[in-house]
Amino acid sequence: MIIKGLLDLILPSSCFICNSSSKKPICDICTEKINYFDAVCSRCGKPTVVLRDSCSFCRPKKLYFDKAWAYGPYEGVLKEAILSLKYDNGIKIALQLVDMVLPKVNKELLDVDIITSVPTSFTKYVKRGYNQSELLAKAFSANLAKPYYDCLYRVRIVKDQMSLDKKDRGLNVKSAFDVKREVKDLSILLVDDVFTTGATVNECCNALKSKGVKITNVVTLAKA
Ligand SMILES: [Zn+2]
Ligand SMILES: [Zn+2]
Repeated sequence: MIIKGLLDLILPSSCFICNSSSKKPICDICTEKINYFDAVCSRCGKPTVVLRDSCSFCRPKKLYFDKAWAYGPYEGVLKEAILSLKYDNGIKIALQLVDMVLPKVNKELLDVDIITSVPTSFTKYVKRGYNQSELLAKAFSANLAKPYYDCLYRVRIVKDQMSLDKKDRGLNVKSAFDVKREVKDLSILLVDDVFTTGATVNECCNALKSKGVKITNVVTLAKA
């Protein structure tokens, strides 16, 4: 009974999305409403009609990641869950979302030495008390029994990517990240919440590759 009482304190008793009674952060009815991509480009994760190795979006681009993948579109329940992850309910939602996403990820992307996350800005970290990408990456790390490395940091202040046009996002994060520990010859899985233009994860992978990282794969929850 004591254990049950403790679990009740930790686990939610209502769904964060619809408020109905639920022991899970997102109830089964809401979870069923989350869409995922059936077919994506295996290089950049962009949804496609059939599975393919590259697409018109990624072919002309200089990409520093080897493969990127996103679970589903940034809309509806998945979008609400990611916002909730960012602004209220970090750890509980992160664990459930990673449990949901893992069975769908192409196993090739997970065949890495270590897992890391996109660093957040200092002000956001202080405001939230955590970095949502780090929570997701640590949930992957626990599930896959692979080490989590805190290896990237921001070398300068950048504007919030969400506040910019797609065309300005690449420039905004150009050379904005650096690596703070030895990563040479490792293969790395970089985790983030949302893949929009891919500019942020691409710059993170650029920093990692410049320090001798062999493989950088990217997994995100949603593609905007
Ligand atoms: Zn619900
Ligand atoms: Zn592509």
